[in-house]
Amino acid sequence: MTPYRPVSLLIAPYGGRLVDLMVPAEARDEVKARASQLPSVQLSERSVCDLELLATGAFSPLDHFMGQADHQHVVDEMRLTTGQLFPLPLPLPVDPSAALHLDCDIALRDAKNDLLAVMTLEEIYAWDLTEVAQKALGTLDLRHPLVIEMHRWGKRYISGRLQVLQLPKHYDFQQLRLTPAQTRARLEALGYANVVAFHTRHPLHRVHEELTKRAAQEVDGVLLLHPVVGMTKPEDVDHYTRVRAYKALAAGYYDPKRVLLALLPLAMRLAGPREALWHALIHRNYGANHVIIGRDHASPGEDATGQPFYGPYDAQALLQRYSTELGVCMVPFHELVYLPDQERYEDVARIPSGARTASLSGTQVREQYLNQGRRLPPWFTRPEVAEILAETYPPRYRQGVCIWFTGLSGAGKSTTAEVLTVLLLEYGRQVTLLDGDVVRTHLSRGLGFSKEDRDTNIRRIGFVAVEIVRHGGIAICAAVSPYRATRNDIRNLVGAEHFIEVFVDTPLEVCETRDTKGMYAKARRGEIKAFTGIDDPYEPPAQPEVTLDTVTHTPEENAHLILHYLCQHGFVRDSNFATIGSVG
Ligand code: ADP
Ligand code: ADP
Repeated sequence: MTPYRPVSLLIAPYGGRLVDLMVPAEARDEVKARASQLPSVQLSERSVCDLELLATGAFSPLDHFMGQADHQHVVDEMRLTTGQLFPLPLPLPVDPSAALHLDCDIALRDAKNDLLAVMTLEEIYAWDLTEVAQKALGTLDLRHPLVIEMHRWGKRYISGRLQVLQLPKHYDFQQLRLTPAQTRARLEALGYANVVAFHTRHPLHRVHEELTKRAAQEVDGVLLLHPVVGMTKPEDVDHYTRVRAYKALAAGYYDPKRVLLALLPLAMRLAGPREALWHALIHRNYGANHVIIGRDHASPGEDATGQPFYGPYDAQALLQRYSTELGVCMVPFHELVYLPDQERYEDVARIPSGARTASLSGTQVREQYLNQGRRLPPWFTRPEVAEILAETYPPRYRQGVCIWFTGLSGAGKSTTAEVLTVLLLEYGRQVTLLDGDVVRTHLSRGLGFSKEDRDTNIRRIGFVAVEIVRHGGIAICAAVSPYRATRNDIRNLVGAEHFIEVFVDTPLEVCETRDTKGMYAKARRGEIKAFTGIDDPYEPPAQPEVTLDTVTHTPEENAHLILHYLCQHGFVRDSNFATIGSVG
């Protein structure tokens, strides 16, 4: 006799049932033991996300990485070979060097080599990047984050039946990590048939709160706040901040009987309209029958010519077209503005004539508020969210920066760096001085002056500097660092906005006259080989942020010059700098 199961209030998953690829508990040990004998494929971060969503049924009815026929259909027509909608390809790329052959089983592992699943290899096929990018994404432009990523993918796709042993491990926000089945159970308990899903990669402001509340009201249902925590656009706010903001808002500002916050471990493709349709399908599998889609949904930004990749309303239009077939209605994102005199938000179409309105652009938020350490106003962002954003985006004067001195031995790098260190401490910043000579006595002990060893030395200093900057400190590095390419690598690692290259431009004759350590004399006598400037090259920076003249300026004057530069760029607070004497 089948057990009694009440009919669900919620919309059924797409295709009728939720795919579940998890190996039953009692069979796991046996599959695991077998897996230890199998050849392994290590999955990328993206494929790990895809596997998690396949395993839990978020991509239902799809239950495996696509084979060639499905893949071709999806690229051409946004449909699986069964005719069901599936707007984006879901392949598993591998390197052709992987020694794989058909009809064998392989173990799928994550970056740490943890075993996730066993795949029975049924297909290995070549794919054409140009065709896929052009048809599925509508572009070959390398500014599209997925196009550039696809150039690094393996040249073969593989497909086959999946047996999943464990979901990827997540240690963050565990209470909010709900599978489609768990999400459905929670929604069911809230007692509404209608569920409207919403996600944005951006921090949540009052306007999002307003429009999501209106949408839930409009459909007389529950709001599913469903932020993406897999992969988004590389420059987006990190997912910790994103989720903290969602949590703060969900906890404090919604009726708990009308809202559910669940995380979506999706790896976005930033495919605009096709992605909007895909999100609708995924949200449906989690139990939503409505979705809020705004302007520029899943937009990858602008192409090489400065044009947007997709039109602002293309996503809404495509979803509208397939809405009935997919069973998910679109709730269009109404543009809302704030009416300060009435202290409320209103649809732009319904603003009384002559009413005052208020809004802030993303640039204003960054430049006029966060970078300057000013709190966002409460009409724009709830105070709890404003505080989270202030923590993630501290003002410039609390952000990290790397000051990289370069120049010949004896040029005056260490001497100037020491003065600058003291001045910065005086003005309230945390500083670590990484001096080449000193670093070579511990972190780089044993390294010589071959090109390879010098590069290793610089990269070690760079590694430490990156960490210091990431944590909001100032790293002052003073090493000859003779090679331009290596210095540029460090600049990229730190981030160009936080890297200040200081060229201590002292002529060789002057350094040689100073010869405080007697090294030049030795080098001239041939007792030291490969000495920079004598018989080893020094490549001056092409565009240093600051150039110092140590012949006509004292170390103190030069240190003040750098301090002045830091102040102008916001890294030292103006109010502090006002008390500093004039620069010589
Ligand atoms: P580096 O770190 O570039 O090898 P140092 O700072 O260790 O160089 O040595 C520079 C030497 O030059 C010191 O002895 C310092 O006193 C002397 N010197 C003379 N004038 C200056 C100046 N204007 N700036 C920096 N150092 C100077
Ligand atoms: P790099 O950036 O080339 O690794 P460091 O600043 O770490 O250089 O070390 C350079 C210091 O080491 C010089 O100031 C000098 O005192 C000493 N030194 C010893 N041999 C050499 C050499 N062959 N070339 C340059 N500096 C040398």
